Amino acid sequence: MLRALLLELAKSSRLRRWITSNGTTRRLAQRFVPGEDLAPALDAARNCNRAGMSASLDHLGENVVTREDAERARASYNEALDRIADADLDANVSLKLTHLGLDISEEFCAQQLRIVTRRASELKNFVRVDMEGSAYTDRTIQIVKQARAETESVGTVIQAYLRRSEEDIRDLLSSGCRIRLVKGAYKEPSEIAFPGKKEVDANFIKLMKILLPSGVYNAIATHDPNMIEATIRFAAERDITKDKFEFQMLYGIRTDLQSRLVRQGYRVRVYIPFGKDWFPYFMRRLAERPANLLFFVRNVFRP
Ligand SMILES: Cc1cc2nc3c(=O)[nH]c(=O)nc-3n(C[C@H](O)[C@H](O)[C@H](O)COP(=O)(O)OP(=O)(O)OC[C@H]3O[C@@H](n4cnc5c(N)ncnc54)[C@H](O)[C@@H]3O)c2cc1C
Repeated sequence: MLRALLLELAKSSRLRRWITSNGTTRRLAQRFVPGEDLAPALDAARNCNRAGMSASLDHLGENVVTREDAERARASYNEALDRIADADLDANVSLKLTHLGLDISEEFCAQQLRIVTRRASELKNFVRVDMEGSAYTDRTIQIVKQARAETESVGTVIQAYLRRSEEDIRDLLSSGCRIRLVKGAYKEPSEIAFPGKKEVDANFIKLMKILLPSGVYNAIATHDPNMIEATIRFAAERDITKDKFEFQMLYGIRTDLQSRLVRQGYRVRVYIPFGKDWFPYFMRRLAERPANLLFFVRNVFRP
């Protein structure tokens, strides 16, 4: 209930204005978003590299309604790729297709993505296309497949809460497309998504067992110790070595677990969001964990 309410509130422009202009909430958001510009994100990536982890930079933004905004987003991704290369960082980029204009036109969005994936390919880097709400799943997979026909420098994300995901994974793997497996962060109806944590977790493990032996370099993105343990156990049983996949976690979440995995010799990539448009991302993080919301409310309404 609370999760659904927070995800609904993430669409409110009034709440967005209040939260993003309030000094306390801006400070609290820094736990999840290191800054509004590229420079602090690059610093955060450098710190991750020093701690033995790679990074993925996400310039926050989604559902843009003008071509100019989509082109600006596309340019910011190319700039991020250039700056990563200049600074010799172990980092790639993650982006959302609605940030590149998917709500405006599929063809226009596909063109914008191809400009970024070409740049990534020239720099021998990689673009991860995040997965958004289910209204975008088909189009995202389609556009990623088109881009991937041109370069291997692009992959996408599959959400374990969607009932369709096993089929999508098999389809994408058949062309060698790299996949990041997540549980899923949006509000979806039970006809298309598993409603309970138990079923989502069971599907996550089932899908992980398809991804790991596939021969494709995939990512298991979760902070859930049970999912991580299941992955480690399965990899050991199948003699899948630690260089054949990576774990991914979000900036500022379970940093203890991130360091522990590095110490155990696993590859860990930290997803680092930056930018002014952090409100929906912040709300999704609150929705994931009631304790985050409690912490937030206590700080904002502290006498
Ligand atoms: C690298 C990365 C990329 C992602 N990309 C996408 C994407 O493209 N599309 C998409 O739909 N979703 C994406 N997600 C979000 C994902 O779908 C989940 O919503 C999120 O990861 C929480 O699920 P969980 O697997 O950590 O497990 P959960 O069962 O939600 O949590 C397990 C435990 O992890 C910790 N935890 C989880 N979330 C938080 C939090 N916000 N704050 C503090 N602790 C927390 C808690 O200890 C919790 O008990 C991504 C997640 C990661 C890590």
